[in-house]
Amino acid sequence: MTEKKKINSLGVTISNHIDLIIENRDLITPELLDSLRNLSNYCLDSSFTVSQKKRNTKNTLIDRLKYFVQHTIEKSLISFSEIGLIEELDFKEKKPIYPINYAKESEALIFSYNYFINEENWVIEKWNTHKNNNEIISNLKNIEKTYNKIEKLFSNPDKKINILIEELNLLYILTIDIYNYISIYNSNKNKKISSTIINVCEYCFRICNTGKTCKIHKTYNSEKMEEYLNGRNLFLESSDDFKNFHNIYKTFRELTYDNNISLMSNYGIDDDFGPEAKKIHTNEVFHRMVINIKKRIWNNDLKKIFQHDFLRLFPNIYHLIEPNFSCSVSFDHFIELSYQEKSLNNIYDTSKHPFWFLYALTIADYLENESKKIEQKKNEIAARDVRYFGKKKTMTYKQIVDSEIEEGFLFLKEGETRKGKESNIKKIIKKMHNELTSSLKL
Ligand SMILES: [Zn+2]
Repeated sequence: MTEKKKINSLGVTISNHIDLIIENRDLITPELLDSLRNLSNYCLDSSFTVSQKKRNTKNTLIDRLKYFVQHTIEKSLISFSEIGLIEELDFKEKKPIYPINYAKESEALIFSYNYFINEENWVIEKWNTHKNNNEIISNLKNIEKTYNKIEKLFSNPDKKINILIEELNLLYILTIDIYNYISIYNSNKNKKISSTIINVCEYCFRICNTGKTCKIHKTYNSEKMEEYLNGRNLFLESSDDFKNFHNIYKTFRELTYDNNISLMSNYGIDDDFGPEAKKIHTNEVFHRMVINIKKRIWNNDLKKIFQHDFLRLFPNIYHLIEPNFSCSVSFDHFIELSYQEKSLNNIYDTSKHPFWFLYALTIADYLENESKKIEQKKNEIAARDVRYFGKKKTMTYKQIVDSEIEEGFLFLKEGETRKGKESNIKKIIKKMHNELTSSLKL
């Protein structure tokens, strides 16, 4: 058994995001790449914390982000002086630079340098809220402005310039995304924007009406207790891969309640979204389907394609959504019908984003399959008990064990004895007798 670490969902999201953004960045220096990989690993560590120092944390996320931002801007300014856009600068004392003497190309970057070297601008109160704080965004936009200008300035850029552009681009995208993650996560936590908050059930794909579990997995009345326990056990016993998949779904959905997402996969990148859109890595199949849904008309041809795909991808729950194909007039309508009580019973989910729908179907299908397996196991146990009970009428316990082995129902694993098996059967039959007597008394 590996030791279970307490992993923070915000940390997982940021780590996934960093991995995604640095993928295939051939131009950035190995040093920067290493430091970003370290940052990503730190986000998955049990000592991860945004700003509060824990006993075993040397640097918090904010400390590490500060180092990344300051260091990358300094490095870029050094490149600026090397290509003759500014004089050589001394960064040792972290003093503000007066941009008045410098060319337009470097002005915006100097503004952002002056902002980000100021310790006061790294207090957590500035980073965990979107309220009244346009300073961070505008200073990050200065970085974006800078590389756009450089790109225009050099029509035939050499490798050095390309590295400069790439690193500034990375700095801008990563910092603005991490800032968004921290601030949205914090607002969700504090319920300051309750009207837009959504919570994904801890044990399934459904959106909760209130609290942390959906109405199916709530415990508020005893009739539901069994469903609650079944749902919880099903989830807790699922594979780590599934739990990770569910965690990504839960985190991203809760962070992107406004559906402002763009997808990346081997199939391509959705690039018609603003920088605020959360980039999500997915597989080619889902990406292709989302693009198909968005670009094509929901007619019989497309319905046929999706009937085929959904049956193949979600065989365990397909029967629940199948009737909705023929009566839907659009894909939005199809989702709406599929979330109704008689289909997937996810009535509080108002998103019509096909990507979230595919994710929900994946989770629903997996859980249904697991539940079928458990049901099958239960039936096998019930059949076994009935068999033992029948045999007991004419056989001794020793004979039952012999016949079970002979018929291929029972195997002695290493360390198991016939005596042990006999006593198990004895217990089962005793339990069945008790149940029988108590049911006769009723
Ligand atoms: Zn649930």
